[in-house]
Amino acid sequence: MQLRICEIFHSIQGESSFVGQPCVFVRLTGCNLRCVWCDTQYAYEGGECMEMGDVLAKIESFDCDLVEITGGEPMCQKTAACELMSELIRRGKRVLLETNGSFLLDCVPEEVHRIIDLKPPASHVVHDENLWNHYAESWRDTDEIKCVVACREDFDWCIKKLHQYKAFNRVIIHFSPVWGSVAPEELADWICAAHLPIRLNLQIHKVIWSPDARGV
Ligand code: SF4
Repeated sequence: MQLRICEIFHSIQGESSFVGQPCVFVRLTGCNLRCVWCDTQYAYEGGECMEMGDVLAKIESFDCDLVEITGGEPMCQKTAACELMSELIRRGKRVLLETNGSFLLDCVPEEVHRIIDLKPPASHVVHDENLWNHYAESWRDTDEIKCVVACREDFDWCIKKLHQYKAFNRVIIHFSPVWGSVAPEELADWICAAHLPIRLNLQIHKVIWSPDARGV
């Protein structure tokens, strides 16, 4: 089986509850959405078709037990991505999946930590209410939700939706500012005032390296 790969690299986990840990990132090519503030547009097309065995060998070469499958949108290559995750679990890896919240995640192995984006209106992505109602019926203890907000309206919309999907106190919830649109201190103030179990996520890879850097 083959995967279309944008890049595979070893770096520091910049978001999620695994923040700060060394991690191998497997970035798959292709995405079905076009968020206006997308910072990985280079992953939309191109990349290299790699055999599953070569992808696994490249991952193993970094000698790191934490692996994140990301994109683009990895679920655009659903069958191959789920097979890769299953094999990584079999090999004893801790596996994270970063996904954009527009796919059924039924084939994702139970052991995988699913980090699901909730896309507020300023992303210009159409929200799939039915799909999110489906997620809400079957949250896993290890699930995490990431909300990237560009304005106060986005913040309020996400809070409303997270209540609707019974996500508070059920899964870990992260809020990140869109770089250049919301100041981190402004988002920090909103989170403190909300008195809800929300974590501020500053994408530390963008703090350590340039916000536009690739492969870090
Ligand atoms: S889902 Fe992710 S990769 Fe796709 S357009 Fe949005 S931010 Fe970019």
